Amino acid sequence: MKAWEDKIRRVTPYTPGEQPQEPDKVKLNTNENPYPPSPAVKKALDGMDEQLLRLYPDPTASVLTKAIAGYHGVGQDQVFVGVGSDDVIAMAFMTFFSSGKPIFFPDVTYSFYPVWAELFKIPYETKPLGEHFEIRPEDYYDANGGVIFPNPNAPTSRLEKVEVIEDILDHNQDCIVIVDEAYVDFADYSVLPLLDRYENLLVVRTFSKSRSLAGMRIGYAIGSPELIKAMSDIKYSYNSYTINQTSLAAGAASISDETYFRETIERIKATRRRSCERFTELGFRYTEPQANFIFVTHPDLDAGELFKALREAHIYVRYFDAPRTRDYLRVTIGTDAQMDLLFDFLKDYEGRV
Ligand code: PMP
Repeated sequence: MKAWEDKIRRVTPYTPGEQPQEPDKVKLNTNENPYPPSPAVKKALDGMDEQLLRLYPDPTASVLTKAIAGYHGVGQDQVFVGVGSDDVIAMAFMTFFSSGKPIFFPDVTYSFYPVWAELFKIPYETKPLGEHFEIRPEDYYDANGGVIFPNPNAPTSRLEKVEVIEDILDHNQDCIVIVDEAYVDFADYSVLPLLDRYENLLVVRTFSKSRSLAGMRIGYAIGSPELIKAMSDIKYSYNSYTINQTSLAAGAASISDETYFRETIERIKATRRRSCERFTELGFRYTEPQANFIFVTHPDLDAGELFKALREAHIYVRYFDAPRTRDYLRVTIGTDAQMDLLFDFLKDYEGRV
């Protein structure tokens, strides 16, 4: 062992989904949008003044925060933007979860939460989801250092009722509750209206899924001005220029094209409905999906083996080898043509095993 080795901090990192490089793949593993971003985004990037690249970007990212605030009908002082919602959530962990008390999140959820908790040395407790992967609000009544969960949840795609979220908020008035709405544009409703009643609620969103801009890395949080100010103070103590010039332009342009945004969402929802029917025909089971992915299980098929067989056929889905998820596959909704390739494979596979 070298003398300096014990000075190095060792952590267990988050494992992102694979980004395969071969061209003939069917990529349904990282919940990206199969459609391109709005043409307004390309136009904004093409028309960008290259002089802008010479300058530091606006540290307040005001072009983007203004567009987001206008879109949601909130004040600009209620919006915080970051490099994808991963960056926004990491900042929120640093800002709000410093009491030393354990934070609570579900046992089946976005697998980055425990990684940030370890990284920032935040104690945490996971709360088991119910039999149908439902959040049980009473599990969140005990004293804690904060609460976070996605709605719809990942990887289950299940959306909790607003009353469930209200129940959790009512019992957690002395800490910050973060609702990660990464997938909410594909769902029936959002909890944003609750912001008027709960100053301790922070809602986090992303441009990566519904706006087809995962490559641009844009995420945001909406909350009371006090919460946003606290997050900004942490950000300015860490890295002032998080959002680059191209992301600012692309993000604002995406917001300007509501028609394209709605059309794309409707197309994905239509493919989701069709995919549910096909999965049912093939004997798969799932809870009603409210995100751009379906979490499926089959009583007679080993999910781990199926995952491997799909991968060999260059069809990429996600498999989480953990106690409550190892019988399931998370399948991102692609185009109809991509889903057909998946279903052709599954039909043939069922005949073989
Ligand atoms: N939250 C959840 C629940 C997610 O699944 C993801 C995607 N991995 C994110 C946040 C982060 O997405 P992004 O950083 O691309 O905004």
